[in-house]
Amino acid sequence: MSAGVGVDLENLWIRFGDFVAVRDANVHIKGGDFFSFLGPSGCGKTTILRAVSGFLEPSEGNVLIGGNNMKGIGPNKRPTALIFQNLALFPLMKVWENITFSMEIAGASARDRRKRADELLDMIALPGQGDKLPSELSGGQRQRVAIARALCAEPDVLLLDEPLSALDLKLRQHMRTELREIQKRVGITFIYITHDQGEALTMSDDIAVMRAGVIDQIADGKTIYNDPATAFAASFVGENNVFRGKVLEVRGDQALIRTNRSGDLLSRISTANQGKMNVGDDAMMFIRPEALSLAPTGTQGDHFVTAKVNHEEFEGNSFNIFMEGDGGKELKVAIPNHGQSFDDHSGQDMTLEYDVNNAVAVPAGELA
Ligand code: ATP
Repeated sequence: MSAGVGVDLENLWIRFGDFVAVRDANVHIKGGDFFSFLGPSGCGKTTILRAVSGFLEPSEGNVLIGGNNMKGIGPNKRPTALIFQNLALFPLMKVWENITFSMEIAGASARDRRKRADELLDMIALPGQGDKLPSELSGGQRQRVAIARALCAEPDVLLLDEPLSALDLKLRQHMRTELREIQKRVGITFIYITHDQGEALTMSDDIAVMRAGVIDQIADGKTIYNDPATAFAASFVGENNVFRGKVLEVRGDQALIRTNRSGDLLSRISTANQGKMNVGDDAMMFIRPEALSLAPTGTQGDHFVTAKVNHEEFEGNSFNIFMEGDGGKELKVAIPNHGQSFDDHSGQDMTLEYDVNNAVAVPAGELA
């Protein structure tokens, strides 16, 4: 089995007039990986994909596929296939004809096409469905047929631009697993574009977190969640509580931060920022709702926070407490539900405790 074909972006800049859509992107995508670009609408994800597929020439820098520079090579000469958000199957063609449309254009016989369609139908776990019309399939099945059609041309790299966003929530979640399994079966490189952090976290080997044309961090999902490189990455991926302040002391890989409203708090400095945060710098500290626990009210110390409870809610797997937080944002605490009794604390002060290793400090920056 081949190791798959890697994709590299080297010092990639893409401008539209004066507007910079992609600013100096440097990305190494390993062959055979499921790689996602994750970021809010308008951050430049689709623009990057268009540069990889050849529909757009970068203003500066290089796109390499399998180590080959793609400069001047048009979309249909590249070893890539693209799947869009609004896939369009031909409604009057049977599934097998849809899948092998590119072979028909190339003049392949019906027998060869049928054989290839059957292989691909096995691959997408729809065996024996070739004679159906697209209208006889569910939304998720149609999505898989669109993937099979893209795979028919045997691309080295499949580019997927928010392919699940038109599906309803349940199907979208189901399709995450399906897509990941198809990718493992086919063994080729998938580059996936999404604004949905759940999709990126569940499917990807590695993720690039993007913000306004800039890549903030490239890492596996667990690293991005536990060890974010920037305030944006910390606040965009998963729920997070922010504490703003200034660095009061640096102790090795930890920083004591004088927060605006919660006293002096100790935190781990995120790996990407170790050695780069200095006394007096504006800092942000993040603690996940599940990393905070209740402590005796009024306990003081560098890993205790006291705040007033605004309201509480029961969410099945957790009791959530919302407290007065920093900069107009509420502080959220999630207490796992083990069937224990839980009093209403609204209006009261409560004290929270955290493990310093579960708090992460980064330089102050833009929040998501
Ligand atoms: P979405 O998730 O909404 O598709 P995105 O992250 O894929 O967003 P892009 O489509 O890459 O965003 O667009 C990035 C920025 O570049 C946007 O501000 C967009 O308006 C701008 N842009 C994209 N294409 C062009 C173009 N051809 N001319 C001018 N500006 C463009």
